[in-house]
Formats: sequence, structure tokens, C-alpha cells
Amino acid sequence: MKHKFVEYMPKIIEDNILYISIEFKVAKHRCPCGCGDIIVTSIDPNRWKLTYDGETVSLSPSIGNWTHKCKSHYFIKNDSIKWARKISDDDIDSVINRDISALKSSPKKSSLSRKIKKWFEQ
Ligand SMILES: [Zn+2]
Repeated sequence: MKHKFVEYMPKIIEDNILYISIEFKVAKHRCPCGCGDIIVTSIDPNRWKLTYDGETVSLSPSIGNWTHKCKSHYFIKNDSIKWARKISDDDIDSVINRDISALKSSPKKSSLSRKIKKWFEQ
């Protein structure tokens, strides 16, 4: 992936280019999975941090396109895409399991939480 510093975002976002507007604190690129969705990342201390080493750019944290169909998850590091694990049903399960363990450690154990616990331990 290449990067391009621009003032205004171009109308046409080309594949494989990360457009960065420092003026407007935003970066745009097309999802590298090939789905063609345009991914917008705000350059903001609370959102994404852009680092430029004079040659390549990196964005952190990772970019997770949960709201897009492909649900791609990757890092942009030194102008290249580093794929991260996709969100899957397993992840959803692990979220549920986290909730279950939170339920387990909850001091107010209701019979309902015991029932759910039992159900998940089968
Ligand atoms: Zn995609």
C-alpha cells in the first residue's frame, strides 16, 4: 500500500493508496480485502494515531471493519497491510463466555445465572 498526503480527499479513492489529510485529520483507503468499501479513519488521539517515519506511515490501533460486510481486520504498518484475525462466531462466543464468567464471579448469583452456567458447561 502506498500513502499519499493530500489536503482534500480526492473524489476517486484508488485501491492500495492510503490518502491522508493532516488538515482535516482524516485518512481514507479502500478496504484491502477487495470488497472495495471505503474506510475512513479519523486521525485523532482518541481514534487512530498516524506515525510517519519519513518514508512510510503506520496507523494504530488496528482497523476493524465490523460495520462493513467483509468484517476485515488489519493493521496498516509501514505502508503495508498486516492482516489480523477476523471476527468470527468464535469471537462472539468468547464475548458470551466473558459475560458468563462475569456472571459467575458476580456476588449476586441468581438461579438464572446458575442455569445459564450449567447450560454452557454441557
Ligand atoms: Zn473488505
